[in-house]
Amino acid sequence: MFHVTGLSTHIGKIQILHSIDLYVERGEIVSVIGANGAGKSTLLNTLAGLYTPSAGTVALEREVISGLPAYKVVAKGLSLVPEGRQIFPNLTVRENLLLGMYSRYYKEKKQTKERIDMVLDMFPGLKKHLDNLGGNLSGGEQQMLAIGRGLMSQPKIILLDEPSMGLAPKIVNDILEILLRIKKEMGTMIILVEQNVKAALKVADRVYVLEHGSIILHGTKEEISMNPQVKSAYLGMK
Ligand code: ATP
Repeated sequence: MFHVTGLSTHIGKIQILHSIDLYVERGEIVSVIGANGAGKSTLLNTLAGLYTPSAGTVALEREVISGLPAYKVVAKGLSLVPEGRQIFPNLTVRENLLLGMYSRYYKEKKQTKERIDMVLDMFPGLKKHLDNLGGNLSGGEQQMLAIGRGLMSQPKIILLDEPSMGLAPKIVNDILEILLRIKKEMGTMIILVEQNVKAALKVADRVYVLEHGSIILHGTKEEISMNPQVKSAYLGMK
């Protein structure tokens, strides 16, 4: 279980997140939707330890991980796939993947190979590119690499910040399929942040709606899809 309770984040003097409550159960995909500037990235970055919350707690399997630096949060089992992918264009695909492992693994060759094989099993298209530079991959392949890198630390929960951004619908569907496989085959908890609400609703079990840094609605995928406010504001339906 992943539990966020009363989480607030300030950037400078400005309060961006207001007392967020959210949970993810084992084997769930939870989506956070919201307009531009609602605070989605700030939420994920706070959960990943890149910002220190000004109030509240984040607990992964009952262990409080808020307040820890980002590298320790990864070691506890939380991995972030950041907005804009942020792969290293001048490193090879293999090197990019290795950066997703925390340092103690480097010495354990067998585990390193197992993790790379696991990622390649999930993303067979990356295999032929292992020794190519990350910057030479297509946008879709770079997103797959970013997710693959996020899986290298064998996280209990993985957070994805707008993985569909800038990608063609067919590639977005491929990525959604991969998320369903990660959930099913690895049992990893997933938080999916999306502005592409239709895509998010395809795979999410439950959905939170974030507006101006507060959760204004929360429910199952079915409840949120039927909500009149969501239909008109996010799905372009009357
Ligand atoms: P987007 O989809 O555009 O990334 P978002 O929902 O992820 O939007 P955030 O990036 O979390 O939103 O931003 C939330 C609010 O916090 C915005 O009003 C933004 O201007 C503000 N903000 C974010 N980062 C900073 C910062 N470093 N300094 C000042 N304000 C910031």
